[in-house]
Formats: sequence, C-alpha cells, structure tokens
Amino acid sequence: MAQRVTAAASLKTAAAGSAAPVEPGARAEAAARPGDAGWPREGPLVDQFGRVVRKLRISVTDRCNFRCVYCMPEDVRFMPAEVHLTFDEIERVVRIMAPLGVRKLRLTGGEPLLRPGLPDLVARLAAVPGIESVSMTTNGFFLAQQARALKQAGLVGINISLDTLDRDRFIQIARRDYLQRVLEGIRAAEEAGFEAVKINCVVMRGVNEHEIETFLRWARERPFIVRFIEFMPLDGDNIWERRMVFSAEEILDIARTIGEVVPEDGDPSEPARRYRFADGRGTFGIIASVTRPFCAHCDRVRLTADGKIRNCLFALEEHDLRDLLRGGASDEEIEQAIRRAVWVKWAGHLINMPEFVKPARTMHAIGG
Ligand code: SAM
Ligand code: SF4
Repeated sequence: MAQRVTAAASLKTAAAGSAAPVEPGARAEAAARPGDAGWPREGPLVDQFGRVVRKLRISVTDRCNFRCVYCMPEDVRFMPAEVHLTFDEIERVVRIMAPLGVRKLRLTGGEPLLRPGLPDLVARLAAVPGIESVSMTTNGFFLAQQARALKQAGLVGINISLDTLDRDRFIQIARRDYLQRVLEGIRAAEEAGFEAVKINCVVMRGVNEHEIETFLRWARERPFIVRFIEFMPLDGDNIWERRMVFSAEEILDIARTIGEVVPEDGDPSEPARRYRFADGRGTFGIIASVTRPFCAHCDRVRLTADGKIRNCLFALEEHDLRDLLRGGASDEEIEQAIRRAVWVKWAGHLINMPEFVKPARTMHAIGG
C-alpha cells in the first residue's frame, strides 16, 4: 500500500508545471440537469438537447489484469461475477436498443478479453438486425491468442491502449511488466487483418508527454492511428489534477515540430478530432475531453458490466436494467427504462466548472 501511494504521489510531483488551458467553449457547456418530465414513449432515443443515441458502449467485465494508475487503484475490489450481465442479457438489451436507432457497439471493460468466450458474444451482437458494427477497446494482452477468432466472429475495429514504448515507464503506468505482450498483441491484430488499428495513449504531464513525438513518428511508419487522450478525473488513487492534463493544443504543438498538420473533416460525434500530416504520412487523433469537450455532439450511452445505463462517463446517476432483466420485466418496460435514462442526460460534463463532482465509479467499472 505504502508503495502504491508513493508511486501515485511521484506522478503528481512529476507533473509540476502549468495547468492545461481550457477553450472558452469548455466552460460554456451548460450545467443543465433536466428532470424526466415528458420523456418520449416512442421514436428515436433522444435527450432534451436533441442529441440522438446511435452508439452503445458495453462493459463486459470490470476486471483487469493491469492496474493503470489513471484508471483504478492497485488494491481494487472487483464486483462478484454473478452481477455481470450474461451474454443472453447483453444481447437482449442490444435487441431492444437496435430498433430505437443504436447502430454501433463497442465492447470494453475492465479488460473485455478476460471474459471467457468473447468471440461468441461478438458474433451474437453482430447478427442483431440494425447493428452496423461491433468494435472493442482492449489492453492488447490477450490479442496474440484471440485476434483471429475475434476477426472471424465479425469484430470490425480494435483500439489498443498503449501509453509508452518504454518498459520502465510501462511498469510505472500499468503497474505490470507487460509491454512486450501488448506489442505482440498489436502485431497479432495487424496479422489477423484488422485495418487501421487504433492505439489509445493517455497523456499525463510529467509522465509520458515526452513520447508523443515517438508515437507520431511510429504512426508515420506503420498503419496505426494513434489517438492521444487527455487525462480525465476518473482514476482510483486521486492523482488527477488539472496540471497533469497535457492539452490538445500542446499535443498539436509537438506534432507541428514534425511537419505541417492538417485537420480532417470528421464526424463531430466521434470523440477524437482527426489530423493528418500534409506530406501524406500519418494520421492521428486527439480526444480532448477536458480542454475541448464534445458533449454537444455526444451520441453514446454506456451499459456497465453490472447492468446500469450511464448516459455520460461523468454521470452521477445510473439507471438499473439488471433487476428488470432478472425480474421478469417485458421488453417494453426495459425500453421505457432506457428511454428515460437517455432523456435525463445532462447537457455536458462539469469537469471545467466548480460544481464538478467525481463519479463514485472509477474508469474500469464504468467502461471507457
Ligand atoms: N482495458 C481496456 C483498455 O485499457 O483498453 C478497456 C477499458 S479502458 C477503461 C478504456 C480506455 O479508457 C483505455 O484506452 C484507457 O486508456 C482509457 N482511460 C482509462 N482511464 C482514463 C482516464 N482517467 N483518462 C483518460 N482515459 C482513460
Ligand atoms: Fe485495465 Fe484498461 Fe483500466 Fe488499464 S485502462 S487498468 S488496462 S481497464
């Protein structure tokens, strides 16, 4: 325990420096917290700000074999396995949501590949009428064994998390000596035929920002899209501080030292803003949840491993489906519970406002 606290404290010290500047629009995000009056009983899944839900992130487990400092504490307590939704229950929720307009699914966790038989779930969800794609976010550890089966099952996209190419820093961040396994997993994903594998890199000031240039140069040589993610206050050791957020603008400044950077027209509902190098070599993305919130275009909700709908990563209220699923509720009753959960979604997260309250769940239990 003492060692863990020391490690977390040293990350904070390393981050000493300026706080990431926030775009003016970031604070203008309305703090509106609407009630549930008038939630629509039919039609698309819509909230009170006109946003329509098209994507569902499904956490299949809160368990993980890594202990990333930005995601969970070392001595984390996982949920008992019996509270995890079964594959039948997950498929039922998806069959209810697809006719309401949900088109894209992403499996996540915890580490999704710790859940036995995941390719079966992928195949079942990909076969649901209306579902256009099933993707996954993974730490890559098990991909060497499973990439091929996942591809055959119909998985279309893989995001692999990798914050550093340095073994010691990897151990500092993930608290496990698994860099080689992740690199083998990335290779396996390529060999299995996944196109444009995305590498998710959480950037923390004083920890790994020195590697942004290395990652960008790597992505210019290889068919990867590196996506830099601003550090969000969802960690388990309370190490997050605004000054640890290495901002989108600072990341772009580093990219510009390599070559001319051109923003790409992208889908505004995608969390990552895409950029390419003008010389045609390399594409990268930045997920700037803190300094450039994209809440106004959000089209996602989340289903936690224990069956709660969360309408935002930072939501403080959850909407339980598990008791409905296990208590004999009809599809209609479950649909209405989902509609209500979407209707009461806030206008935006409050990270940049004094009213911000960190959710009780850390990232691994929400499903990133
Ligand atoms: N275990 C899988 C993995 O690591 O890819 C999936 C779950 S993980 C919670 C999903 C994503 O959330 C990862 O890319 C991870 O880097 C990111 N993440 C976790 N905690 C974060 C935080 N506090 N701020 C920003 N991104 C975070
Ligand atoms: Fe595990 Fe992913 Fe969280 Fe790291 S980010 S501890 S790999 S769930």
